Amino acid sequence: MIAYEDLQKVNEPFFPAFHSAWKRVLESGWYILGKEVEQFEGNFATFCGSSYCIGVASGLDAMILSFQHFKFKAGDEVIVPSNTYIASILSIVHAGLKPVLVEPDITTYNIDPSKIEEALTPRTRAILVVHLYGKMCDMAPILQIAQKHDLRIVEDCAQAHGAKYQGQSAGTFGDFGAFSFYPTKNLGALGDAGAVTTNDPVLAESIKTLRNYGSRIKYTNEVIGHNSRLDELQAAFLSIKLKRLDEITRHKQRLASLYASGLKDDFILPCIQAGFEDVFHIFAIRHPRREALRGYLADRGIKTEVHYPIPPNGQKALRETVQGNYPLAEEIHKTVLSLPISFGHTESEILQVIDVMNKF
Ligand SMILES: *Cc1c(COP(=O)(O)O)cnc(C)c1O
Repeated sequence: MIAYEDLQKVNEPFFPAFHSAWKRVLESGWYILGKEVEQFEGNFATFCGSSYCIGVASGLDAMILSFQHFKFKAGDEVIVPSNTYIASILSIVHAGLKPVLVEPDITTYNIDPSKIEEALTPRTRAILVVHLYGKMCDMAPILQIAQKHDLRIVEDCAQAHGAKYQGQSAGTFGDFGAFSFYPTKNLGALGDAGAVTTNDPVLAESIKTLRNYGSRIKYTNEVIGHNSRLDELQAAFLSIKLKRLDEITRHKQRLASLYASGLKDDFILPCIQAGFEDVFHIFAIRHPRREALRGYLADRGIKTEVHYPIPPNGQKALRETVQGNYPLAEEIHKTVLSLPISFGHTESEILQVIDVMNKF
């Protein structure tokens, strides 16, 4: 049996270090927003090449707090790709704003920059780019559009820790980068956790205030804030894993290159472009008979996932929020299949998957 992802296996190399971190935090008597969080924030900012990092409770919160910072008016619009995990869209809704969906490029699965301008209205305030599957969006034209129309940019980096575009890391292009450290992400905690990156000290201070009840001085509340704090234990675990994130990424890249060179061309492979360094949070292929392929692999002991089975525009939760047709997003959702590609997988397991796939 080849699991899609086995978190026990992924985390096993870190067990001894986790045990001593647990003991250290336990015995410190300080559990939320302390030294461990500060240390992780510094380490992760350095890793991304951003000036600041602010730990928060989740990836969703990282985006909500980012939008809340801007104090846009209720109903102001934010551009977001139609092909994304629903959290991206929910963050806009939770911030009291209106998501305006823009179709992806069918080869990269990320937002198609050439379709953004036609979606702008006088109420458009920001673009939420999503670096899906660990591949960055084509940032140059997006930055140009944002500058031309005076739009803010938030990056959903939940799947893109350390991914690069022209040598520059995810989370350093926009006003804010929003990261999730949900256990399955490339940098995954042992619970929920997230972070916001920014290069602007004023924005960093604002997120710090928003995450802690809108308060900088205890019991003095300046803005309508949240309880969205990172705890010491998760921060300690994350610092341990961050030290080996480059190794985790290289492992996934190696497995991706095995797939890329080994799979027959019946399968539509992830698009590889010069100037992009992809971190393969997910290795998504496409096939017109996705369900049959998935069943065939399952019958042979190979577990796969679908990211995602229902596009945001087809979700009941968004029926009132999202109108229009998104045929490209639907086509991707219908045909996409995620293959095993974790830190816990060996090269020989991936070669086995390739072998079975090629006999489909
Ligand atoms: C995981 C994920 C999120 C949400 O992160 P949480 O930490 O679960 O809130 C947002 N966007 C994308 C693209 C994700 O994959």
